[in-house]
Amino acid sequence: MEITIALTKGRILKETLPLLAKAGIKPAEEINKSRKLVFDTNIKGVRLLILRSSDVPTYVRFGAADIGVVGKDILLEHGSEGLYEPLDLNIARCRLMTAGVIGVSSQKGRIRVATKYVNIARQFYAECGRQVDIIKLYGAMELAPIMALSDEIVDVVDTGGTLKANGLEPKDKIFDISSRLVVNKAAMKMKYLGIQKIVDSLERAVG
Ligand code: AMP
Repeated sequence: MEITIALTKGRILKETLPLLAKAGIKPAEEINKSRKLVFDTNIKGVRLLILRSSDVPTYVRFGAADIGVVGKDILLEHGSEGLYEPLDLNIARCRLMTAGVIGVSSQKGRIRVATKYVNIARQFYAECGRQVDIIKLYGAMELAPIMALSDEIVDVVDTGGTLKANGLEPKDKIFDISSRLVVNKAAMKMKYLGIQKIVDSLERAVG
């Protein structure tokens, strides 16, 4: 039985590999030293894919991957339709927050918010009854308030060091975030034994 697991590079990969190893799954070669995007593992038929984080739910939803590891921020932003979310891996923990210039209190009236999380931001400010214009960015959100592109940003924050280094401070917490295991719904039925074995071992590995 072929089982494909979709992962993302960076923080999530660094924290997922030890969990996979504890669950008995090891890449056949070192992922960070390779430019390949598909890796065999020590288990026959189990492969790892390296994707961009926002593409993980798409691969799993369409069944191009059976299992994925992805941040809850991505699932909240892009939706988790067609996916089971059986396990909180409790890794890559951070907070999704609004942030603005240090010492500047949130303005009254309509404000501009720069973010890659446009859906989450729209919903959050609407629930707060605040009028906003959302500006979609693809990275370096911290730059937007300094360059007067926006009044606030919505981004994931871990230590807060990146915000601080750019003259910003966190304001309101929107969600606590961690990485989740997602599984394609059809694959869960068709490949039940293989997938459940991996889910169970990862659950034990998370502890
Ligand atoms: P910080 O520790 O707050 O300075 O975070 C450093 C940068 O890493 C920030 O710009 C965040 O966008 C990003 N970041 C922090 N935590 C995570 C996470 N769990 N997953 C993805 N990106 C993160």
